[in-house]
Amino acid sequence: MEDNNNMNDPSVPGTSSASFERVGQNPENPEDEAARLFEDYIRERESAATEIYNTELPTEHAYLGKMERVEGVDYLEPGKIYRLPIYTHHSIIYPGEIVPLMLNDFNLYDGRPSDSSDGLKFGLVFQNQYSDGGRVYGVTCQVYERGAEGLSALLKTVAQQRFYIVRQSQERRADVKILPEIVLPDPLISSCSNAMVRFANSSRKDRLTSFKRLLTQSTAWPQFVYDQYDTKEVMAKVERFLSSLKITSVQTDEVKLSFWLARNIPLTEEYRKMIFCTDSVLHRMLIINKALDHMWYFICKRCESEIANYDDMFAMSKQGVQTSYCNPAGYVHDTLTVHKTKENSTLPVERPSTNFSWFPGYSWQIIVCANCRQHLGWKFVAEKKNVLPKSFYGLSGTNITVKSHGDLKKTDDDDDITDRAAANEEQLDYEGLFELESSSSDSDEGFY
Ligand SMILES: [Zn+2]
Repeated sequence: MEDNNNMNDPSVPGTSSASFERVGQNPENPEDEAARLFEDYIRERESAATEIYNTELPTEHAYLGKMERVEGVDYLEPGKIYRLPIYTHHSIIYPGEIVPLMLNDFNLYDGRPSDSSDGLKFGLVFQNQYSDGGRVYGVTCQVYERGAEGLSALLKTVAQQRFYIVRQSQERRADVKILPEIVLPDPLISSCSNAMVRFANSSRKDRLTSFKRLLTQSTAWPQFVYDQYDTKEVMAKVERFLSSLKITSVQTDEVKLSFWLARNIPLTEEYRKMIFCTDSVLHRMLIINKALDHMWYFICKRCESEIANYDDMFAMSKQGVQTSYCNPAGYVHDTLTVHKTKENSTLPVERPSTNFSWFPGYSWQIIVCANCRQHLGWKFVAEKKNVLPKSFYGLSGTNITVKSHGDLKKTDDDDDITDRAAANEEQLDYEGLFELESSSSDSDEGFY
């Protein structure tokens, strides 16, 4: 009922249902034939004029108004402790994400030398997410654009590095320890002698596979043990997932890709936390691998009504399917874009508006859960007739969660991953990779 866009409106030229019936009724009639030709002509003209939405536009966050560029990007050294201004945030932000922010009581400039070439940097801390796990985690944010100075500061920032709080010095300042991103070398290749490494660098896949098979013969473990630490299988699944979303360009850097996937694949809060807390890129990929085995759907967090399907997701922004947008009150919504919601699962309320629209060219209208009336997000409708998509939905990550079809209980495999991620929490070195196979007792460091 709420989905009354032009696509189903027979009064709009070029939509087929009405004309198709007419032709079918009397194909011999020359008047009908003329009408059909005319409609074909209109349809052709329309499709020629159809504009596919430029997904770069939402990434610019133009609704925040004119802003000034802030120069300077610097990376902090992993393992070292830095004092940063901090702000709390309601959800997990992964490195690489663009985060628009409106900060009150803006004290970024306090204590910062005026000739600093470091640019503007602060920490976003996920207070609510981690208060139970002992450590409080966060991510550093680099400001790349800022609005005029006033009571609240409008900022466009990019999240950069994970950290945890070592000590909070003042209310809005803390000493934070920067976490490393560990890319484990291939366990087999790194164990072979220098003289043999050149075989491993073969660009031919089959040659590399047989070389690895040869190497396993001289180790204590059979090949399947090593295969578990191979990201080939994960990458094949990831590619299928991306092509189902029609996303063609993604990060090629392993670290960035692992965070991008954590953001864009439907995951439970627990999996999101695990992925954030682990330093090992491989373990992130293993958790993602597990998640890709499930067919997820999206439910209302409050009443658990089904709202949308996994395959309804699509990328309306170049950034991906789930991105952050700031509302006029300064609240940052993680917004997941879907083509449609399940029939009768959502209701639009209030009038559509174009003010502060996150998707330039689209009006928005608040939608609520049809069952419990909880706010779930927004329906966006194109203002121009020929823009595609004509409409879509943005679901708010705060009020939506995921559930998987089939077995919803935690499986042994899930425990296995929790153990690995927990054991990995400090630092994981090459030997640690093998110890994980046998140890399953240190899960009390976990995040549940
Ligand atoms: Zn509900």
